[in-house]
Amino acid sequence: MPPDLAVLDGELTLTCPDRHSLAAALDAVCHSIESGWSLAGTPSSRVYANAARDHLLRHLTHSAPPSPGIRWADDSPASDSPRHLLLLAAAVAGVAISQTRTTGAHAFAYHLTAEYGVPHGFACAASMSWIEAHASARQPETVDEATRAVVETLRRHLDGARSARLVNLPSLEGSALEEYVDAGLNLRSRMATHPVPIERTEAIRHIGQDGRLGGKSATKVAQKMPQNA
Ligand SMILES: [Zn+2]
Repeated sequence: MPPDLAVLDGELTLTCPDRHSLAAALDAVCHSIESGWSLAGTPSSRVYANAARDHLLRHLTHSAPPSPGIRWADDSPASDSPRHLLLLAAAVAGVAISQTRTTGAHAFAYHLTAEYGVPHGFACAASMSWIEAHASARQPETVDEATRAVVETLRRHLDGARSARLVNLPSLEGSALEEYVDAGLNLRSRMATHPVPIERTEAIRHIGQDGRLGGKSATKVAQKMPQNA
């Protein structure tokens, strides 16, 4: 049941660590995109989804990605501070998914959290990175310019979070990669409303090309870590 009332007070987020603030923002980006392109969308849900997406795009485009020792979002308690506005956008994206549920990025993300402990928002962002590329290649009319742009900012912030060691993403290869793909494809409650059909071999190819969960760049990171330790 939806709540009768929600209290949105940005001041309560001021002491929230960057890891949690950024994960929540990236999760909200995925909520807005997935509701916006969901086959279960309605005119009303799309208004909420697109409003949240456009606001998040404006905010994240002008925010520097996380870097060590620097607060990711400012600590101003003002009602127009970045934290307060992110909170409002996240709530609007929440209204959108309450009408449609989520789609592909969430379907694939749950396995990363359950098996590798990747925080939910980062797991969704890592999955969205290749899923948007797949959708743009396979069915370009599904991904409008604003969605493409907000996913580009999502990638920038996710990469910043990895560099700042706010999150570790697994490098998936072989059977681990196949398990990730199969877990996502089998989650019918989410994949049934994903707007673009995804085939197993296509998914594996796009994950490799994206490189955030597997493929050349992920393998390089995995090989480097023991040498640096
Ligand atoms: Zn979520």
